[in-house]
Amino acid sequence: MEKLEYVWLDGYKPTPSLRSKVKIDDVVGLWSFDGSSTQQATGDKSDCILNPVGEYHTIDRIRADATRTGDGLGGTYVMCEVLSADHEPHPSNTRTHCLELISSEWWFGFEQEYFMYKDGRPLGWPEKGKPRAQGDFYCGVGADNVIGREIVDRHTEACMNANIGITGTNAEVALGQWEYQVLGSGVSAGDDMWMSRYILMKIAEKHGVSIDFSPKPQKGDWNGSGMHTNFSNAQMRDLGSQSYFEACCKLLGSKHKEAIKEYGADNDQRLTGKHETQSIKKFSYGVSDRGASIRIPIITVDNNWNGYLEDRRPSANADPYRVMKHIVETIDGSNTGLVRY
Ligand code: MG
Repeated sequence: MEKLEYVWLDGYKPTPSLRSKVKIDDVVGLWSFDGSSTQQATGDKSDCILNPVGEYHTIDRIRADATRTGDGLGGTYVMCEVLSADHEPHPSNTRTHCLELISSEWWFGFEQEYFMYKDGRPLGWPEKGKPRAQGDFYCGVGADNVIGREIVDRHTEACMNANIGITGTNAEVALGQWEYQVLGSGVSAGDDMWMSRYILMKIAEKHGVSIDFSPKPQKGDWNGSGMHTNFSNAQMRDLGSQSYFEACCKLLGSKHKEAIKEYGADNDQRLTGKHETQSIKKFSYGVSDRGASIRIPIITVDNNWNGYLEDRRPSANADPYRVMKHIVETIDGSNTGLVRY
């Protein structure tokens, strides 16, 4: 028998939360839950269905470690989409819109920023007042400069063990703020991203710490949290040109308002034009420009316009499925006029 931890997104708006429950079984299959407790059904028709779409088998190393520490991380994590009782995709199921649209030709590299919170304030912040100004914390080391690394290290290892494509992590600009990056292809890039968030929140629980994904948890001269989304298709990687990349940027600019609707709630508090952001009211793109909506990495230009783009607008609380859908639909949709080779 296996410990199967089913994970899904609830129906809360504008930002869904992760939910989970554990089943001891040796078969991964459909399961049901009470949708009336997750804003996905009414009490008289409460059953919703969990349809497994991704399995994350933690390998022996973590299982052994989990046994030793009793931290409960071992087992199989099962990412699920939610179906209504009639087995049709539930209205809250944003993944389903990606299925026919996004092939594994599309690569997504998400940069997930977040704050750790404890006792109603960012981890390490004094009970009264604020920490000293930002400056020392980014990629810092030492107890004066960073806090929460134990959670970060554990999370990194857990993602590696679960075969989530985590590619790195770093302390961020504000004290108690961190980032990690996840690379994936096709729809499963979104599955991996959601599962990585789940694992992070679960590990943080052990420390009495909660994870805050909101775009601007602390008002004032403190960085917000984004989910910069790097992306490419085969043409961008291998048959790129300046004109193709600029056409992609212009298309994204033509759908800026639509993008903001898909890129996370309260993002206006973060996209102010300060703290390495472009204002939410403007769209711009530029080579190496971290104050732009879209950055064209210098490595793309140096590689004779082969590479990727970075959409800097998505906020940390964005639904990766919605971000992916918007990007692919905008660039690859039937009416874009963009010629693909
Ligand atoms: Mg960052």
